[in-house]
Amino acid sequence: MDSAAAKPRLDQKPAPALACSSLGRRLVLATLIFCLLFTLLAVTLRSVSAWNSNLAAMTAELKLIDQVFQRTLSKAIWEMDRDALQTQLDSVAQAAPVGRVQLSILRAGRPPEVLTQQRAERQPSTLVPSLQQTLTYEPYPGATQNLGELVIEGDERLLWQRLLSDVTSIVITQVIQSLLLAGLIMWMFNRSVTVHVRHIAQHLGELSPANLKRLLRIERKASRRDELSLLEAGVNNLQGKLSDYLQQQRRDELDLAAHRDRLAELVEERTAELRQANSRLEELSRSDPLTGLANRRHFDEMKEIELRRATRLNQPLSVLMCDIDCFKLYNDTYGHAQGDQCLQRLAERLKHVFGRAGELVARLGGEEFAVLLPGADLDQAHKAAERLRQDLAAQAVPHSSSQVEPYLTLSIGVAQYDPQLMDRFDQLLQCADEALYRAKRLGRDRIAQ
Ligand code: GH3
Ligand code: MG
Ligand code: MG
Repeated sequence: MDSAAAKPRLDQKPAPALACSSLGRRLVLATLIFCLLFTLLAVTLRSVSAWNSNLAAMTAELKLIDQVFQRTLSKAIWEMDRDALQTQLDSVAQAAPVGRVQLSILRAGRPPEVLTQQRAERQPSTLVPSLQQTLTYEPYPGATQNLGELVIEGDERLLWQRLLSDVTSIVITQVIQSLLLAGLIMWMFNRSVTVHVRHIAQHLGELSPANLKRLLRIERKASRRDELSLLEAGVNNLQGKLSDYLQQQRRDELDLAAHRDRLAELVEERTAELRQANSRLEELSRSDPLTGLANRRHFDEMKEIELRRATRLNQPLSVLMCDIDCFKLYNDTYGHAQGDQCLQRLAERLKHVFGRAGELVARLGGEEFAVLLPGADLDQAHKAAERLRQDLAAQAVPHSSSQVEPYLTLSIGVAQYDPQLMDRFDQLLQCADEALYRAKRLGRDRIAQ
């Protein structure tokens, strides 16, 4: 599996910290927007409530003014004291909550006299409270006289002033409350969340396979148990599992490497054995099992090689064809097994006499042997054959039934390659063979060419 492609590797360098906005700031922004909307609603409701309260307060004030001035006004009308009446009326009109005052005085047989006092620039209003009161006087107990009617209207400007003052205080209170709330949330969130989240992010950013054992520690009271505690436990648990997994992976990799090395060693051992067996097999396939000399196949390979080399270098090439004399009689006399031993002994002598580099002795079959002599002309080959014949004679291997000598002898045919007359090695071999038969015919234990 290509683990590098399938998963983001832990041993990679930590990515540079991304520019990020603060969660706390977003929370505060949301709180402020909520507080603004809430303030608008609260201000609206509290303003309506303040307006109603102001109306009720003004009505109460007008009633109080009415109670204060009702008797003195009635007395002034009854006594027809115009100065006192005017003074009383001015006093009523100057009271703070009063915007307009109207006094209707009843006259017998005439239309009522109307006296009005109002504040400068006052506009008629339907918003302000108005108090309408009948004025009576009791000159003596039980005799109540109806003297007229007093109408007192409130001052609208005062109502608005009071409302403005109330709204201002409401707005200031709400804004301060909202700001304090947002600040408190920001402080609390920063202290109990943001700081720890940043710490966790930094811890995770610094993690690598080498420091997986370094656990996450959130600095706060140990008694605190909340979502951050769960996150801390989760991160540490994950680190522990990752660390175990990596250790196991490292162990597996080492095991795998050891197995791979062992396997390579085994393959190498087996290959060496196989190579040895092959070379042994090849050697066997190219050697004669009885004598250990080259066999016919090897001889055929080498003869072509030597022929090409001799032609290329323009060097002589000779061949000897050797045949044991009266070997059938040897077998008949000493038995086939000793005949084999005799062949082996002759092979030893052949190797001894033709041991120089390039010289090749092969058993062509039965008791026939060929010797390849690169670089040797006919004369040198003849001398080499003679050396062999004498060597064998010196061995004096007993052959009691031989018709030639009482010991083992050889007949040898010698031929040299002649590029003028021959174009194939087999022609050279045939020449040597013919020479061998000549040697046989001439009486054996000799060399012919
Ligand atoms: P000549 O002098 O004319 O060569 O007579 P010869 O008896 O040597 O030749 P012939 O061809 O008549 O007989 C060859 C004998 O060689 C016959 C066979 O029994 C023997 N021979 C061939 N191969 C082997 C072998 O591997 N082991 C043994 N012990 N004898 C073999
Ligand atoms: Mg023979
Ligand atoms: Mg023979």
